[in-house]
Amino acid sequence: MMATTERTLVLLKPDAVQRGLCGEIVSRFENKGLKIVGMKMIQITSALSKEHYAHLVSKPFYPDLERFITSAPVVAMVLEGKEAVEVVRTMCGPTNATKAPAGTIRGDLSNSTSRNVIHASDSKETAAKEVPRFFKDSELMKYDLSKEWLYAGDE
Ligand code: UDP
Ligand code: MG
Repeated sequence: MMATTERTLVLLKPDAVQRGLCGEIVSRFENKGLKIVGMKMIQITSALSKEHYAHLVSKPFYPDLERFITSAPVVAMVLEGKEAVEVVRTMCGPTNATKAPAGTIRGDLSNSTSRNVIHASDSKETAAKEVPRFFKDSELMKYDLSKEWLYAGDE
C-alpha cells in the first residue's frame, strides 16, 4: 500500500539559533529526503507560546519554557514526506536529550530536557493544528522536487 505523504511542523528553538545549529539541523532533514515546503524566522510571543504549549501551561516548568521560547527568534519549518510526522520525531529523539540516542538531533546536539534545540509535531492530529498555527497557506510553497531518487513508484 502506498504510504501517505504527510506534513509536519518543526521549530528550531532559540538555543538552536543562538548556538548556530540551524544549518546542521536543516541539513539533516534535507539529507533524509524531506521536502521543505515552508521556512521562516519568527519571534514567538507570550500569547503564541500559551497557545502552542496549552497542554503544559499548568506545569511547574511552564514559566521557564515561555521565557525561553520567547527569548530569541526561532526558525519555523514545514517538512513534507512519507510518514513525515513519525520520521521527524524519530530524527529528533526523546524530549530529555540526556536520554536521546546518539545519531538523533537531540542526542547529538543537546544534553537538556528544556534546551533541547527542536520542536516537532507529535502526531498527525497535532501536525494538522500546528502547521496552520505557524503558516498561512500562501507561505507553503508548491514546487516540484523529483521523488524518483527517494522512493520507489509504489511507496
Ligand atoms: N520541557 C521542559 N521541562 C520538562 C518537559 C518539557 O522544559 O520537564 C519543555 C521542553 O522544551 C520540551 C517542551 O517543554 O521540548 C515541550 O514538552 P513536550 O513534553 O511536548 O516534549 P516534546 O514534544 O518537545 O518532545
Ligand atoms: Mg510536544
